[in-house]
Amino acid sequence: MNFKEIIQDTYQKVKNIEDRGQLATYIPELANVNSESFGVHISTIDKVSFGIGDCSERFSIQSIAKVLSLSLAYGILGEKIWDRLGVEPSGTAFNSLIQLEADNGIPRNPFINAGAIVISDILLSNLENPKEDFLAFVRNISNNLEINYSTKIAASEKTVGFRNTALCNFIKSLDNIQNNPSDVLNFYFDLCSIEMNCKELSELLLFLANNGARTFDNSQVVTKSQSKRINALMQTCGFYDESGEFAFKVGLPGKSGVGGGIIAIHPNQYAIAVWSPKLNKKGNSNKGMKFLEEFTTKSQLSIF
Ligand code: GLU
Repeated sequence: MNFKEIIQDTYQKVKNIEDRGQLATYIPELANVNSESFGVHISTIDKVSFGIGDCSERFSIQSIAKVLSLSLAYGILGEKIWDRLGVEPSGTAFNSLIQLEADNGIPRNPFINAGAIVISDILLSNLENPKEDFLAFVRNISNNLEINYSTKIAASEKTVGFRNTALCNFIKSLDNIQNNPSDVLNFYFDLCSIEMNCKELSELLLFLANNGARTFDNSQVVTKSQSKRINALMQTCGFYDESGEFAFKVGLPGKSGVGGGIIAIHPNQYAIAVWSPKLNKKGNSNKGMKFLEEFTTKSQLSIF
């Protein structure tokens, strides 16, 4: 498969479309990016590494970090983790409060904010130095010591995080948060603030295309079964209220973030990262979605 050629063609085609998407501005610092940025990078199991456009520029990965926090917490708790949260798509907005009451404070899945907040609580209870240990876990996956939090983005989100604060307090009132809510939220905002470029992101998430193991030394980040299940969750819950559409048009497990990044995984083949900060109405990168739809159409590879 000539991924390079397909990516080049698709990139040129999608680059020139009129993009009616909008930057996420509800976190003020996220508005400080060039809205025309557009980068793509693919890393494959058999060591193809190819990028185009703004693939070396770092951006805020936001909710893509939820895949990493889930991976670490799942490794620590094993299947017991599902006592604290579910595995169903939510069908409501990523920051919705509505379902939580009906579900007794058990978030529907780890990728809505409520679920990621519970995962943050689990990590706070199980890590000695949560902020440092989580970063060390992430850096270790791809052996990349350059990956870091953005203090600016985290601080910016902390000033406006009223809805996440409401979610965390509400879950606490229903007994599914064990730590002090402000500690949980500070950790949650920190992990959302991690910055990476498309190359780093595709290298990092390649373990999910490799049965949970790092490709360069085959050591497991998560077990094979956990890797399969994380991919299943990305497939069904990775794109907010547009997960069905992503499965329909792209046909790969993936995860998006409001910084405009998307990671998609083809098990046993590749991880591909796309970044373009203007978001569609559902909060997913407009060009990113279009690029991946065209890319999987042209490469005729999907998991279905
Ligand atoms: N930090 C963001 C929030 O909690 C993450 C949103 C996202 O990327 O989906 O609102």
